[in-house]
Amino acid sequence: MTMDRDRILLTPGPLTTSLRTKLAMLKDWGSWDADFIAVTARVRHALLDIVNGHDSHTVVPLQGSGTFSVEAAVATVVPRDGHVLVLDNGAYCKRAAKLTQLMGRRATVLPFAEQEPVSPAALDERLKADASITHVVLIHCETGTGVLNPLIEVADVCQRHGKGLIIDAMSSFGALLIDARRTRFDALVAASGKCLEGVPGMGFVFLRQAILPGCAGQSQSLAMDLHDQHAYMEKTGQWRFTPPTHVLVALAEAIDQFVEEGGQPARLARYVDNCKTLLEGMGELGFRPFLRPEVQAPIIVTFHAPADARYEFKRFYDAAKQRGFILYPGKLTEIDTFRVGCIGAIGRNEMRQAVQAVADTLRDMGIASGAPAL
Ligand SMILES: *Cc1c(COP(=O)(O)O)cnc(C)c1O
Repeated sequence: MTMDRDRILLTPGPLTTSLRTKLAMLKDWGSWDADFIAVTARVRHALLDIVNGHDSHTVVPLQGSGTFSVEAAVATVVPRDGHVLVLDNGAYCKRAAKLTQLMGRRATVLPFAEQEPVSPAALDERLKADASITHVVLIHCETGTGVLNPLIEVADVCQRHGKGLIIDAMSSFGALLIDARRTRFDALVAASGKCLEGVPGMGFVFLRQAILPGCAGQSQSLAMDLHDQHAYMEKTGQWRFTPPTHVLVALAEAIDQFVEEGGQPARLARYVDNCKTLLEGMGELGFRPFLRPEVQAPIIVTFHAPADARYEFKRFYDAAKQRGFILYPGKLTEIDTFRVGCIGAIGRNEMRQAVQAVADTLRDMGIASGAPAL
């Protein structure tokens, strides 16, 4: 018999959402209707609350997955003759560099090791050496590995050099502290289906008010022009093109629960506990995390694949799925890994059950230990 029960997504978006958030989607909305316009305004206000950004920033929602908003941020904020330095310690950094290039902007990559945070000192050196750089792109939590990058230090270096900073905070926003009164950034990008625990389908970009007038006409794309989206939204309260209505009302409901839970500190505490429960349980099964604990963000954990010859990710994945848990493949090219997300509407119980599911899976596959080859 198959159970008609939602599987737990241990993936960093889409992720497991609460029933309340899912139920919010059972109604249709007219995009130009005053009720929907009010939801848009309420969500934008609540998002600015989260970063203490009301005095310094505005927030512009955009249809699409998170990458759409990263691309839109680059196209809107960086002049066509701008020069972007991408701090690269993983897959999402490489994606940001690629889309910057495809947007026709000059992009330079400053590479770092995948298991280490990017270095503010190295950034400082590079900015001293190359005055042509106009903007820096930082991925706050590099979801490819789970490594946490030093946001405040990088922002301070950029500010000292007078460079614009674009932050991809997709997998950290809502969970890790980001304070616009303390940390200066030109653009910060996140999305509905990550730590706010909404469903996927829209991103949002915080833009520094001071740079907004200069962004007019910089985007070579109509649909991705955040300046235009902002101007229209300020004037009419509406989105320029068909909005993801159900996604937005689900996000509004998810943000209500976020606030009720205790906001960012409470969300962080739950994810830290999830991550700890996961690391302890998997450790007992012999698994070894890819990152050292000091640089591990409590968002997603990369584990080395077991050394046992009977291990094969596809079978491992299918067996865990049978038990109700959806794992995530690794994103490293050199070594065999898999990832487990700590985010979503889940807590310690679900993480313990996930570890138990992995233990049962190993037993069924005849694998004595999750220990990797040394
Ligand atoms: C999820 C994520 C994105 C966006 O990915 P999409 O698949 O486009 O939603 C971008 N950057 C990071 C760091 C992410 O975790």
